[in-house]
Amino acid sequence: MDHIKAAIRTIPDYPKPGIMFRDVTTLLGDAGAFRAAVDAMVFPHAGKKIDKVAGIEARGFILGGAVAHQLSVGFVPVRKKGKLPHKTISQSYELEYGVDEVEIHVDAIRPGETVLIVDDLIATGGTAEAAVKLLRAAGAEVVGASFVIDLPDLGGARRLEARGVKATSLVAFEGE
Ligand code: AMP
Repeated sequence: MDHIKAAIRTIPDYPKPGIMFRDVTTLLGDAGAFRAAVDAMVFPHAGKKIDKVAGIEARGFILGGAVAHQLSVGFVPVRKKGKLPHKTISQSYELEYGVDEVEIHVDAIRPGETVLIVDDLIATGGTAEAAVKLLRAAGAEVVGASFVIDLPDLGGARRLEARGVKATSLVAFEGE
């Protein structure tokens, strides 16, 4: 995982002072690191019953699309409010200041389908937790959540465990 961690660029004080932004565009642009990251995300789920991958906008689309392709399953975009053209169901979640909302198409999941959530990074887990609620409301069985990066000090993995969802990540960074 050293190769993967080394391929992630850190931008201090972005988007605001005190935040260390973990930029995966450098990983995505590195052929070997991108391939290794997708392989490592798929590995724990190979041979398991997964019907769909749900990727969280926007970096979760890139990683989740690749994971879905490798598992030979369908892909569901979990989008920010107002982007999807058909009838949607939505779930709001708290941000540091204010609330946000994520949506999926009402017919994106068939009841009982098993779904793996994918995003680039889990911090507080608020976004992924909203995705869990949304997918469950659509009738999905959420079988796990896979991230490249965990920020363990922010407790996101524990938050998902409390919802009965196992979070796995490839690398961890201390701090926010
Ligand atoms: P959270 O809901 O707190 O778990 O935040 C997760 C979402 O915010 C993910 O979609 C991440 O891409 C983004 N995010 C949060 N913190 C960072 C960070 N330090 N660097 C890069 N992306 C972040």
